[in-house]
Amino acid sequence: MTRTVWHGCAVAIPVLLGSMQTSLSATIDDLLRAYPDALAGFDGDRLVWRDGTTMPVSDGRLDKSMEEQLRHGSILDQLRLTYPAHSPLLPAPMDDPGRVRNKAFFDKMYGDCKSGRPALELVPVVWLPKTWGHPVRITSVNGVDRHLAAISRELDELPPLDKKYLYPPGGTYACRSVADTGQTSMHAWGAAIDINISQSDYWLWHRSADGLPHYVNRVPPEIVRVFERHGFIWGGRWAHYDTMHFEYRPELLGQQVDPE
Ligand SMILES: [Zn+2]
Repeated sequence: MTRTVWHGCAVAIPVLLGSMQTSLSATIDDLLRAYPDALAGFDGDRLVWRDGTTMPVSDGRLDKSMEEQLRHGSILDQLRLTYPAHSPLLPAPMDDPGRVRNKAFFDKMYGDCKSGRPALELVPVVWLPKTWGHPVRITSVNGVDRHLAAISRELDELPPLDKKYLYPPGGTYACRSVADTGQTSMHAWGAAIDINISQSDYWLWHRSADGLPHYVNRVPPEIVRVFERHGFIWGGRWAHYDTMHFEYRPELLGQQVDPE
C-alpha cells in the first residue's frame, strides 16, 4: 500500500486525524518537529520512523480516564494536556501534562533499558562545572546531552542561593518505574534529571487527609525557565508534582525551545 507521508503540515494533520485527535494540545506536527533525527513523517494514522518502520498514534479509545492514560497511554494521549510553559500558574487539579508516556514510542526512541541500549547511548555531562563539577550520565539521542550541557552552563551563572536547589543532583539514568503508576520512568530512557532532592517536594510526601496532592514547591522559577528553554519539562507543573524532576519533552514546548 502506498502511504502519503506528511512533513511539517500543520493544516492537513487535523483533517486526516478527524475525531481521533479530539482536543490535542500539542500536535503530531510538534512531535515531528521535536524529534527530526528519529521521525520521518506521518501517514494519517501512523508515525513513520527514519528506519522505515511505522507506529499507530491512536489506540482508538477516546474515553480513557487520566489514570488509564497514565498506565496505557497512546502517542496521542501524550499530547492531550497543555503544558503551561513559562506560566506562574499552579497545576490544574488532576492535570499531569507530559506525565503520560507511550512505552513503545520511547523504547523505540531511546531503547528499552532492560535490553541494555540506553546504557550504550549514555554520555557524561559535567553538572555545574564551576560549582559542583562532577559528571552525570545522560542519553546522546536527540542531542539531549548537548541540551543538558547548555542548561548546566546557564544554571552555573545563577546566584548561590538559587544553585543550592541544583546540587548534588538526585540522579539521571536509572532503569526504573514511576513510584505511583508503575510505568516506565523517563529516567529509564536516560532523558531525565532530578536536581537536589533535599530542596524538592513530591506529591506523595504532602498528601492531604483525603489522599489528594497538596501543592508544595521551593524550586525558583529562574531554574525552571532555563530547563524549559532547552526542551525539558518540569515535574512541578503536574498535579501529581515532582519538583526535582525535569525530562526532555520538546514536543510539549512547541517552538519555544532554543536550537542547540
Ligand atoms: Zn525524576
